Amino acid sequence: MQIKFLTLFSGSSGNCALLATEGAKLLIDAGKPGTAILQQLDKLKFDTSSLNGILVTHEHTDHAKGVGVLSRKYDIPVYATAATFAAMEKTIGPLATKNQMVICAGSEFCVGNICVQPLSIPHDAADPVGFMLRCAGRMVAQLTDLGYMPKNILEVASEADLVVLESNHDIEMLKNGPYPAMLKKRVLGRRGHLSNDTAADSAITLACRGVNTIVLGHLSAQNNTETVAYKTVANALSREGLCLGEDIQLEVAPREGPRVAFDLSV
Ligand SMILES: [Zn+2]
Ligand SMILES: [Zn+2]
Repeated sequence: MQIKFLTLFSGSSGNCALLATEGAKLLIDAGKPGTAILQQLDKLKFDTSSLNGILVTHEHTDHAKGVGVLSRKYDIPVYATAATFAAMEKTIGPLATKNQMVICAGSEFCVGNICVQPLSIPHDAADPVGFMLRCAGRMVAQLTDLGYMPKNILEVASEADLVVLESNHDIEMLKNGPYPAMLKKRVLGRRGHLSNDTAADSAITLACRGVNTIVLGHLSAQNNTETVAYKTVANALSREGLCLGEDIQLEVAPREGPRVAFDLSV
């Protein structure tokens, strides 16, 4: 069974990932204009009309911007919680009723051979979720946009082969950076975003429990760099005696385009 995962966009300016198996193809978020996402898919020679669904974590534009355009153009079902649908209605425009697949946090559903477990995450959106995606014994966990890492989420994500883990900001860069005080408070809050340090703590737990690959994602353009995020997490893993490249693969999802196509085939 061929299973591939790639991030097409990652960061505060837009998020979109693709999980493609022989039995189903899903986008996770579509937070860029439809045209930009289509361009990326074209570059990969991916047939967009073969998509079986778009999973939406929450309504913020960096996750939902292209959802409506893609769904309408290619007749793709959209999977989101009822509150997320209501909150993104104005941004994404009308969707065909048959393409509005209402999901509930905690209730698993399947699209083709991919089983999806949406789990509530702490973030300042209507009803945000992270996704645990399982296929043929493999598992990918998509965990971005969290103010902190809840224990139950870490527990479930520990079963994954690959975890996309938010590493949004360097706390000092954020504190000393250009954001207005209110926004700094929001990002640092319990319903904001995970810092590099918090990502490092979670990465240690995930790696110790056998997760194979961690992809740091949703980096802030203002308050982080790929190098700072990578070093913070890599150093923390090394301090715990974990060997990078052996015990754990660590990658950073680029802002645009996939750097690596992760092969999870079995
Ligand atoms: Zn968000
Ligand atoms: Zn976001």
